[in-house]
Amino acid sequence: MRVAVFNTKPYDQQFLCAANAKYHHELVFFEPHLSAKTAKLAEGFRAVCIFINDIVDAETLQLLQAGGTELIATRSAGFNHIDLHSAQKLGIKVVRVPAYSPYAVAEHTVGLILCLNRKIHRAYNRVREANFSLDGLLGFDLHGCTVGIIGTGKIGSVTAKILHSFGCHLLGYDIQSNPACLSIGMVYVSLSELLERSDIISLHCPLTPDSYHLINAEAVAKMKQGVMLINTSRGGLVDTSAVIDGLKSGKIGYLGLDVYEQEEGLFFEDLSNQVIQDDVFQRLLTFPNVLITGHQAFFTRNALQNIADTTLANISAYEKGEPCANALC
Ligand code: NAD
Repeated sequence: MRVAVFNTKPYDQQFLCAANAKYHHELVFFEPHLSAKTAKLAEGFRAVCIFINDIVDAETLQLLQAGGTELIATRSAGFNHIDLHSAQKLGIKVVRVPAYSPYAVAEHTVGLILCLNRKIHRAYNRVREANFSLDGLLGFDLHGCTVGIIGTGKIGSVTAKILHSFGCHLLGYDIQSNPACLSIGMVYVSLSELLERSDIISLHCPLTPDSYHLINAEAVAKMKQGVMLINTSRGGLVDTSAVIDGLKSGKIGYLGLDVYEQEEGLFFEDLSNQVIQDDVFQRLLTFPNVLITGHQAFFTRNALQNIADTTLANISAYEKGEPCANALC
């Protein structure tokens, strides 16, 4: 099938082309993001392939449908960037990659925890300048800590397993419990109790209208003094202003982010020669106890191979009229 592949970097093209040796689709790569402004590029393509920072709203969907698009294949697990209701109304099918490597995201999460705790990001810079002082680098043992995992699905449960092996006590909050987490001793509690009792809180639930700003001023107020907060899920789960207030007061002692609610237009791009206009983001960068990565938790060789393979398999299933377990509508 002819596929218009939007928003690709050289690494996406490399992995998609390698996987396509098995599927034989005609992949046409477009560097821009998909939006109402660029939808015209997809004219004549039955399938459109996108990523998380493409805007697939009602207007974009209407333009795609007018150009003959029948299928949207997102190279992501999350789908909060797609207006599924409008897609369904227009008869456009949407497929995704529900799982590609929970290990990639979970391991990055634990990397942020370790780095923040032991201040490895600061130590790296100090040693390069021949400053071998340990002042300000004091950490704590993870062994014996209480970690609260919000969202105990695929990524949350792998994160829990790694932290269990470190000797952490596990609290969980989810709309349904996961037997894999229960089997390693996780105790499910209310959100309030998790916030009150955890030394480290890690977010792994999807962004939905229910979970938007789950971490707001009220939630921060319930947390332990000096808590570590980690978000590798979706930026919109966290009210950034509330978290900045928490950092300023010392309530939040450590913040690790791989996602940010206004990340669109920032992350995945080299802006090193530009003046960043987002003052909230720039304020976050001024704290010594904040560590931010630019949505790279998924970024392992294994994950990119799986993303490419599942995306192309989803498109093949649609082309052959076969049922697709990864269909959203
Ligand atoms: P999953 O569906 O396996 O697990 C999500 C869990 O969250 C489920 O157990 C679900 O019951 C629970 N949940 C849903 N709504 C909730 C709510 N309001 N409160 C508490 N729990 C709730 O998904 P996953 O594969 O573990 O992925 C989790 C999230 O990680 C994705 O939604 C995505 O946003 C994010 N993610 C980030 C990256 C990255 O690179 N940073 C990569 C992949 C996924």
